[in-house]
Amino acid sequence: MRIAGIDIGGTSIKAGIFEDDQLLHKASAKTPFANPDGVVSAIARMIDGWDVQSIGVGTAGSVEFLHDTVCASNLGWTNVKLKSLLEQHLGIPVFVDNDAQAALLAEWKNGACKGAQCALYLTLGTGIGGAMLINGKPFRGRNNLGAEFGHTIVRMNGPKCGCGRRGCFEYYASATGLRRLADGRPVRDIIDAAIAGDPCMSRVFNQYVRDLCIGLNNLIMIFDPEIIVLGGGVSGAGSFLADKCQKELRRIFSRTTDPLLCEIRIATQKNDAGIIGAAMLAPEIKQNR
Ligand SMILES: [Zn+2]
Repeated sequence: MRIAGIDIGGTSIKAGIFEDDQLLHKASAKTPFANPDGVVSAIARMIDGWDVQSIGVGTAGSVEFLHDTVCASNLGWTNVKLKSLLEQHLGIPVFVDNDAQAALLAEWKNGACKGAQCALYLTLGTGIGGAMLINGKPFRGRNNLGAEFGHTIVRMNGPKCGCGRRGCFEYYASATGLRRLADGRPVRDIIDAAIAGDPCMSRVFNQYVRDLCIGLNNLIMIFDPEIIVLGGGVSGAGSFLADKCQKELRRIFSRTTDPLLCEIRIATQKNDAGIIGAAMLAPEIKQNR
């Protein structure tokens, strides 16, 4: 059976055609902003001639199952019925989920949390995207709006977040939060300077890790995961980030009677993770609908 995995991001749409887990073909196109029909046409062009029988899509934004809608500020979408649009245009079954869920599935298949029963995924990017697997299956909540770790509140009456709440985790622990601590310096610069031992950027990075670990502590206490996988821009710091998080969490846990049984790992499936994970969503069409 031929399956297409589609990854819709703010700048590009990527497509992969898979058969029996083998990647046969890849394509990409620029994402037209605020133009869902343009996205549908681009996907149709990318899979044309490949005899695809079903499609899994991982998209930026939140994907609500009850009304089949996608809201994504960096695509300029509000309540876009992406699944219906694609199914009407292409005449084959489509499964749509958010891109963090697709990335987590790719890590679960052959990456940082391969085969784990309970794993969480956080994208440390412009905001914080989240996804989780419980008992080896994606856990989506009632309307697929769960795992929005970025909008859990970590400071009472903190600064206002884009979502309207105050003191959200992503205000502090996203890549944007890291840049804010360094007066807007690019994330890669901050990481490189901290790794090189620059005192000022080391202080900035350590502060960032403390803020990140407040949220990670909360997630560990709620879900008791085996592994938390960190992806997105800040995860470019690699083991420098993972080791610091593990150390900070051990410091937090050492004050308690709870053992720290969770590992923090960096995402390993970089380039094709979006399309591999999205293709893994396609077989869920029958199970979940
Ligand atoms: Zn928020």
